[in-house]
Amino acid sequence: MFNKILIANRGEIACRVIRTAKHLGIRTVAVYSEADAGARHVALADEAHLLGPAAARESYLRGDRLIEIAVKSGAEAIHPGYGFLSENAGFAEACAQAGVAFIGPPAAAIRAMGSKSAAKEIMAAAKVPLVPGYHGRDQDLAILSRAAGEIGYPVLIKASAGGGGKGMRIVHKAPDFKDALASAKREAASSFGDDQVLVEKYLTRPRHIEIQVFADSRGDAVYLFERDCSVQRRHQKVLEEAPAPGMTPERRKQMGAAAAAAAKAIGYVGAGTVEFIADQDGTFYFMEMNTRLQVEHPVTEMITGVDLVEWQLRVAAGEPLPLAQDELAINGHAIEARIYAEDPAKDFLPAIGRITHLRLPAEGAHVRIDTGVRQGDEISMYYDPMIAKLIVWDRDRAAALRRLRGALGEFQVAGLATNIQFLSAVTAHRAFAGADLDTGLIERHRAELFPEAAPASDTVLAIAVLSELMCIDRNAERAAAASGDPHSPWHSRDGWRLNEDNHHTFLFKDGAREVAVTAHYRKGGYLLDLPGAPLEVRGETDESGDLLADLAGTRLRASVVRSGDELTILGHGLCHKLTPYNPVALAMDQDAPSGSLAAPMPGTVIEVMVKEKDAVEKGAPLMILEAMKMEHTIVAPLAGRIAGLYFRKGDQVSEGVELLKIEGDEKQ
Ligand code: ADP
Ligand code: ADP
Ligand code: MG
Repeated sequence: MFNKILIANRGEIACRVIRTAKHLGIRTVAVYSEADAGARHVALADEAHLLGPAAARESYLRGDRLIEIAVKSGAEAIHPGYGFLSENAGFAEACAQAGVAFIGPPAAAIRAMGSKSAAKEIMAAAKVPLVPGYHGRDQDLAILSRAAGEIGYPVLIKASAGGGGKGMRIVHKAPDFKDALASAKREAASSFGDDQVLVEKYLTRPRHIEIQVFADSRGDAVYLFERDCSVQRRHQKVLEEAPAPGMTPERRKQMGAAAAAAAKAIGYVGAGTVEFIADQDGTFYFMEMNTRLQVEHPVTEMITGVDLVEWQLRVAAGEPLPLAQDELAINGHAIEARIYAEDPAKDFLPAIGRITHLRLPAEGAHVRIDTGVRQGDEISMYYDPMIAKLIVWDRDRAAALRRLRGALGEFQVAGLATNIQFLSAVTAHRAFAGADLDTGLIERHRAELFPEAAPASDTVLAIAVLSELMCIDRNAERAAAASGDPHSPWHSRDGWRLNEDNHHTFLFKDGAREVAVTAHYRKGGYLLDLPGAPLEVRGETDESGDLLADLAGTRLRASVVRSGDELTILGHGLCHKLTPYNPVALAMDQDAPSGSLAAPMPGTVIEVMVKEKDAVEKGAPLMILEAMKMEHTIVAPLAGRIAGLYFRKGDQVSEGVELLKIEGDEKQ
């Protein structure tokens, strides 16, 4: 076994590989780009080396640098993760030449499967069923369109070198073929530098079912059952599960044997996935083979108890497969949800920005979270916007689904848009719950899965108001403490100071709406006039900063995150944004300026004028931000000392993040 390995990747998969390496006592070398200097995978590894600037082609795709670092640091092997160089035959060869083991299949196997067309020829020879279609080299329009006619419309044009759903066009009728072909070829050429395409029958309600295979260097191969990855958006997986609902033991064996035979046919070594497309009646056809560890590998690990990364390391070190086919069995059911920084309402547009708040469900035997980010990290435009993978396991699908919904409800992210609520909607939908799966599920149920933004509920409003009230109270206490007068009326907590008849009205912008909530002070709490019905509430804050709310006897825990002018109310599957505009609170803020300073806009820090512990006067310039060629100076709102400085010159900041903190002078 290796003593030290280099992980040529970032994010969750780098962290995932490091976890197993640690478990096996293998030392780990991480690599990072300038954008990832503070990333979780860098912190987890035993050592880490800078690759270069943020752009992938100047960092994570620099095969030469990676090999140089591996050699220099004494790493005996390179794990490529997925994406980046994981399916690059040239890189696998360069590793071998440098005497570093590539934790993946031989270059020849990567090459054989790199072209979907060539892969289909190999599969046909191995008697694996193919989707009816044309995958020849001749790319004449006449030949391709004749082939389309013979296959019968609708057909799918696919880039042979394709991946990630790119270079695919569905054609419903012959007259549209010519234009679709030209556009698929254009996209293929620009994405993959190769415009070869294949044409195949477009299945109308297919399921994506894939088989995990594993082969060792002694010629043995096994399959670790199937995963159903039918729930997709833009031909990209969103939810994956194992085993596939409705799969019969006979068909599983048939598909597994076909996949293992395919692996043997190309002299495969290591972890690989044979993707099939299946008709509703269960007939399956080979689609492509991914010659790497798959994003969704954890669901297989959860039902088999196998650590696939451990197997990868063992096999790459020349060991035999740890288990034979008849020693592998399925236990229970696992589902994975990919948590993305993206906006489902805007056609899943990736979202970038800083994660100002991150709270994960508790991990255990039933819940696993694979992530590469921590609170405060930035999701940048340079890489995949995946925040985490949430994986649940239980005895059967219904129980696993309950776990998934529960865990999604506890998953809290603020600071940028995520698909968490969308995932909750999909997993709660009858089609998913009833395992009525096919790749069109999301599109077909669009109306129910993308509901119009609902107005803030009474619960959301009550939590927001309670949090605001408690914030006002804290400010008042601070002011009282600072005044040094034990008889100061600010010590009084009955609210007399806010209004003579002991009530106070809060105004919020809720999307395009405006809402007013009046709070009446009551002993130990408040009575809120909410749009629905009046509600007696009280609350306290725990050590983690969570709000423990008592809403007329119903207790709930929520997080209220303030970013810029906005409040995000999180908890119990809620994620709702409100913008308070509150003349009294604003006036009070001026009375008792808070010591923390948030970025008023996203931008770059171009100057920092202070150091930690420096004394500053009120109004002193502290930091200069630049955005869209405009400079903005951050000045001290009060006299005091710099108690925290969170960014350096050159750093990118997103709107609302805390830039620095001032501890006010006593006399303030
Ligand atoms: P799979 O077939 O395994 O589901 P996907 O196409 O969904 O494959 O995901 C693989 C993609 O993940 C890569 O093509 C790349 O865009 C992206 N990727 C690569 N490295 C990382 C990483 N460290 N974290 C998140 N995403 C990554
Ligand atoms: P990629 O390399 O982008 O992963 P795949 O060939 O694996 O390309 O196809 C990606 C997705 O496109 C599949 O999971 C499926 O949803 C859809 N798809 C592929 N082939 C077909 C087909 N013949 N009929 C219908 N849908 C298909
Ligand atoms: Mg695929």
